[in-house]
Amino acid sequence: MSRRAIFLCLILMCMFLGVPPAHSQQATLDVLLDREMPSLLSTYKALHAAPELSHQEEKTSALVAAELRALGYTVTERVGKYAEHPSWVSYGVIGELKNGNGPTVYVRTELDALPVEEMTGLPYASKVRTKDDSGREVGVMHACGHDIHITSFLGTAKMLMELKDQWHGTLVMLAQPAEESIDGAKAMLDDGLYTRFRRPDYVLALHDAPSVEAGKVGFTPGYAMASSTSVDVTLRGIGGHGSAPQMAKDPIVEAAQFILGIQTIVSRENSPFDPAVVTVGSIHGGTRYNIIPDEVHLQLTIRTYKEEVRQHILAALQRIAQGIALADGIPESRAPIMTASKSEYTPATYNDPQLTLRLAEAFKKALGPENVVQLPPVMASEDFCRFSLENHQIPICQFTLGAMDAAKLAESRRTGVPLPGLHSSLWAPIPEPTLRTGVKSMTSAVLDLMKK
Ligand SMILES: [Zn+2]
Ligand SMILES: [Zn+2]
Repeated sequence: MSRRAIFLCLILMCMFLGVPPAHSQQATLDVLLDREMPSLLSTYKALHAAPELSHQEEKTSALVAAELRALGYTVTERVGKYAEHPSWVSYGVIGELKNGNGPTVYVRTELDALPVEEMTGLPYASKVRTKDDSGREVGVMHACGHDIHITSFLGTAKMLMELKDQWHGTLVMLAQPAEESIDGAKAMLDDGLYTRFRRPDYVLALHDAPSVEAGKVGFTPGYAMASSTSVDVTLRGIGGHGSAPQMAKDPIVEAAQFILGIQTIVSRENSPFDPAVVTVGSIHGGTRYNIIPDEVHLQLTIRTYKEEVRQHILAALQRIAQGIALADGIPESRAPIMTASKSEYTPATYNDPQLTLRLAEAFKKALGPENVVQLPPVMASEDFCRFSLENHQIPICQFTLGAMDAAKLAESRRTGVPLPGLHSSLWAPIPEPTLRTGVKSMTSAVLDLMKK
């Protein structure tokens, strides 16, 4: 029997039986996906070749808006406002589909790419170069796989429109700008997201991963990703001639003491049961061999799950910086300056455990139990958590979409040689079966939450 004939039989069965049983629903989805894959693959390759940086997602958002509109969604563009940069445009897109009474489910994708020059050599590799927010020319690449997410999102929007008779409620497709700079979700919420549009009962997202085989999905109930805080520290001394240190207060030495001093925050002050990271990612001071500079500037990232641990680390950084300046005899007027960024901050991602376990069951039915794996939490961060509001008010779940070639992953596990991962110039998720699994898993998740 041809696929078309199977499809028609299934439709007749559905009409005859009313709501279809789960296995026939999956078969219907498979048939629809077979038909849709060539177009999804070409959308993916087009998106991959034309990435846009955070805050610049004009063309990508227009493409998403046009596709959703063509499918029959009610589309609102440019949702969002950046509180700290009122002149910037927020390219958030909302596509609504009201389908009777029932739960309101949001499906979210990100739109932005990274300032990375692509080195994959793929036929559809990005050659895009542009200026970043600071005016520096950079290569641009979908090195986090947000193009995989957008394509899965559009595929899901299509499937759910076609399968409209199997669910009820309000479906809100949400395309978010500026995830990499972690200010896009906040911008959309600050623009009245949940009052202009229906407040969600659930918000769902997926993220591709190099550590899981394509064709599989992963889930992590509870805390899945850490909070992230960017911190600037300026250690000030008194500059002078490199040959006369007794006449100066050397901030380079002070910075060295500070970097070693803060290593005890996690190792000695923090409970081993509370994961935490303090990383100094940047240090700049001085101009040449024989000058003691006036100051040294450091950029740090802090990762924690619990807010109280984050607060403790911030206080400890301040205390250690001040203590070292005092010990070095630096005058009060040259005390260290520490600022925790308000815009480069995101809380921890907490996947509602009940929702996550429910989705895991839906994935097992859709993909087979062997293709659904539980994954440990990581210390990476995402601003997706913002959509749950404070104190996890709205249940959210971001699950993991495997995107790595199974043979390569097995080889890497055998040899211990790591494969290029997210944010790498060599990150190359395999489009099939990653995209198929992305659409299938997200569609099945929504159908489970909104089924009649
Ligand atoms: Zn990323
Ligand atoms: Zn990402």
